[in-house]
Amino acid sequence: MKIIDLSFEIHSGAQVLPGYPVPIVHKWTSIEEHGYYANLLMFVEHTLTHVDVPAHFIKNGITVEHVPLEKCIGKGIVIDVSRKPPKSEITVEDIDKVLRELNLTVGPGWVILFYTGYDKKIGTPEFFNHPGLGWAASRYLARLKVNAVGIDAPSIDYEPYPAHKTLLSQGILIYENLTNLDLLLGNIGFKFIGLPLKIRAGSASPVRAIAIIEPGKETIRV
Ligand SMILES: [Zn+2]
Repeated sequence: MKIIDLSFEIHSGAQVLPGYPVPIVHKWTSIEEHGYYANLLMFVEHTLTHVDVPAHFIKNGITVEHVPLEKCIGKGIVIDVSRKPPKSEITVEDIDKVLRELNLTVGPGWVILFYTGYDKKIGTPEFFNHPGLGWAASRYLARLKVNAVGIDAPSIDYEPYPAHKTLLSQGILIYENLTNLDLLLGNIGFKFIGLPLKIRAGSASPVRAIAIIEPGKETIRV
């Protein structure tokens, strides 16, 4: 069994979306002074690797502590959109082409991840120029009734937020700011796990997202 870590490190000063405060990890106590070491954390729920839940965009949508945890686990597939131009739209064809080539049907129980490669641009202005899902692709994914959709970029889409509105209204979770998706290219059906913290009335939560590859089991190498 191989575990691939799909999460960024949380640290003071990490790059977040414009409008959000810069995260702070502040030393609260130290072994030298207090006898024990602890940090104070201050950041919005949408900092670095995190999951968005319906309440983020949907009035009266479920909040993070009520999300069915089965949705946070699923069979994974990575769709390579790394050759698309900056800020371009991820289309139905981008997804469909891959599923057709693999002769693969995805639906409930699956997690679809988009590899942009923009995780490597963190700390630069280009970090925000990633491709994003448009309306048609968002509706297409919603119809598939997958558990979740994820991307290795700070957001799954741009204003007016077609993916956030379409997917979250159907109870499909959105993982953002994933990393290391390139290490999963060519693996189908690995186990994705990204459990949120149980934040009361939360709109999202940082997660430790991982992929488990079990050779010879469900994983198909292509
Ligand atoms: Zn978010």
